[in-house]
Amino acid sequence: MICHINPDGDAIGSQLALYHYLKSQGKHSEMISPNNLQEFLKWMPGADLINVFIRHREHCKELIEKADLIILLDFNQPERLGEAETYVTSSSAKKVIIDHHLNPVDFADVIISDPSMCSTSELVYEIIASIDNSPFLSKEIAEVLYVGIITDTGNFEHGTYTGRTLRIIADFIDAGIEKGKILNLIYNNFSERRMRLLGFALNERMIIQPEYQTAYIYLTRNDLTLFNHVKGDTEGFVNLPLSIKDIVFSALFIEKEGFIKLSFRSKGDFPVNQFASEFFSGGGHLNASGGEYADNLDNTINYFLKVLKDNFNRFNTQAK
Ligand code: 5GP
Ligand code: MN
Repeated sequence: MICHINPDGDAIGSQLALYHYLKSQGKHSEMISPNNLQEFLKWMPGADLINVFIRHREHCKELIEKADLIILLDFNQPERLGEAETYVTSSSAKKVIIDHHLNPVDFADVIISDPSMCSTSELVYEIIASIDNSPFLSKEIAEVLYVGIITDTGNFEHGTYTGRTLRIIADFIDAGIEKGKILNLIYNNFSERRMRLLGFALNERMIIQPEYQTAYIYLTRNDLTLFNHVKGDTEGFVNLPLSIKDIVFSALFIEKEGFIKLSFRSKGDFPVNQFASEFFSGGGHLNASGGEYADNLDNTINYFLKVLKDNFNRFNTQAK
């Protein structure tokens, strides 16, 4: 099994759930992540068994080469495999995509794609539940699927969750998950540095464009160094400007080496996936997407402002 690069709670949760389920059925499986896990996911049961491709390349290449079946979780474009892409796509193993993003690229033998699911974790629950009516929901499986669902819906603030999703959560509670403990591990587990970086980002680096109901935050490499940034510190920053009245579109620019990584969020029907795919070589969901731009920060922001100005009315159909 392998998930996407920069794995989020859903990528790790869905992978771990399948791992625990397959193990309970006497099947051997191995897990790979293209790169390191963020700190706040490392406590998840089984997370220590995930092989990180960029840390153990030779071992991961061997796992990919020897696999009979490769399950690809929570993504549907081969580029999201990072350095592992060529090894996975050229492997002779059968490949199965399990995912909930729109418009899958056809690079697998079987594609189980359901964008009506709030998360790949919810889809994995439905798949396992449909295989076998006997009880499969151990506490471990319930915990990791719960993480996948809450992280992809912002703890039920956004995303396409349904009454059915909440009934699945009821099953997790019946299976003994400790909701309070997990919510603390996911949401109340930040470092002091990260909190100060957030304060700085909101106070010094957030720009509001009222005429486009838009807010954006930018962070330079220097800013990140100043706050001893570690991977995952800026996770969630992009959501915050949406709590400002009348802001419907929020963007976060993070300066990387040679390019800018962008995250987009929206309220209502402003399609940030379309915005990301048209202008920033990216994609994602209606209200949460990302992409990148190969230029410096100033040019990227100027380009963003230009495409925002030219396209805001087309995307923000509610304003019409
Ligand atoms: P985040 O802003 O949390 O990094 O990403 C939000 C969502 O946007 C992800 O779940 C993923 O669906 C999508 N996304 C983020 N970055 C990229 C990217 O570079 N390419 C594509 N296709 N989707 C992305
Ligand atoms: Mn997901």
